[in-house]
Amino acid sequence: MNSTLNMLALAISLYATSALAQTTEQKTRFDQLVALYADAGVVQVPEMVDCTLSDGEQTLCISITTGPAPSNHVTGPYCPSTIESPPEEGGTWFLNDEVVVADGEFIRDLAILFNDDVWQMYDVDTGDVILVDGELGCAVAGDPNSASDYVNYCVECEVSYLDENTSETYVIPLIPVAFEGEAARIGPSPGVGLAFNGVKLDAPAPLELIEGNHTLGLMDACVGHVNPYTGYHYHGLIGCEPQVEAAVPDHEPQVAVAMDGYDIYAALDGSSKDSDLDSCNGHFVYGLGYHYHTDVAGNNQFIGCFAAQYGCALSDSSAVCDASVEERRSGPPPSD
Ligand SMILES: [Zn+2]
Ligand SMILES: [Zn+2]
Repeated sequence: MNSTLNMLALAISLYATSALAQTTEQKTRFDQLVALYADAGVVQVPEMVDCTLSDGEQTLCISITTGPAPSNHVTGPYCPSTIESPPEEGGTWFLNDEVVVADGEFIRDLAILFNDDVWQMYDVDTGDVILVDGELGCAVAGDPNSASDYVNYCVECEVSYLDENTSETYVIPLIPVAFEGEAARIGPSPGVGLAFNGVKLDAPAPLELIEGNHTLGLMDACVGHVNPYTGYHYHGLIGCEPQVEAAVPDHEPQVAVAMDGYDIYAALDGSSKDSDLDSCNGHFVYGLGYHYHTDVAGNNQFIGCFAAQYGCALSDSSAVCDASVEERRSGPPPSD
């Protein structure tokens, strides 16, 4: 009788910790992810948490909180200071589906490059680039409504100007759960995935909006830049991110985990571009299961869609993830 009661009490206490019992598969995956993110600059020990995914599925997720800077490389520079500045003193931007150097010459030629005479991002007398940086730069980068006040400004937010406690918490399903209907398009929330240096793979930058506003938040040589919510984040992967050897031979290395729990591997090289990838940039390989390959960096996206229900990117690490209720912050920054 006593032992029955004890077991009942134990069952109730476990239930209180997590509404869902973890399977061996989930435990194995959790341990694997903890190891993959061991050097990611995590600011909190990864936890297994209950979560509600985008299509309403209740399951178990890993919760990983990372700080504002990559754990393995420096960030910047972004805006060149004058129209004479060489490439190494400037940043990068997207042009014609490629990542291009955004140096002084790029700023000088903006009106030509974008075929739009409104561009005039430098002082014609001095050649100095017109920029807003420091704390104000971070404020502008984080406030979409301020873009109209900074027409023809190069906006720059450095990690060093952010609150030192800036962090984002990624809540990712341990085992992917398929959608009932179609795969989900990539929206601004919760981003695409998380690299093993703690850097977010963000949703595509709204290039038409940004270029229409004539306010550029240039990226650095690693195709990343900073906003005050997430800190440094990528808009393309070109090898600055840590790469983990695939579990099968002759396959691209793993570079991230997507917010739906599937793994993301490096871009296929040109020769294998006409491969069997689906519209989400995913395919099935024996030994790896279903996974994505990131797009080439200039395409302003990592994957085409989510094949499974996604979790959350939270500004409050103690918040509970319910991705079925869109978490609305103040919207994506203009330079984002
Ligand atoms: Zn593959
Ligand atoms: Zn961005």
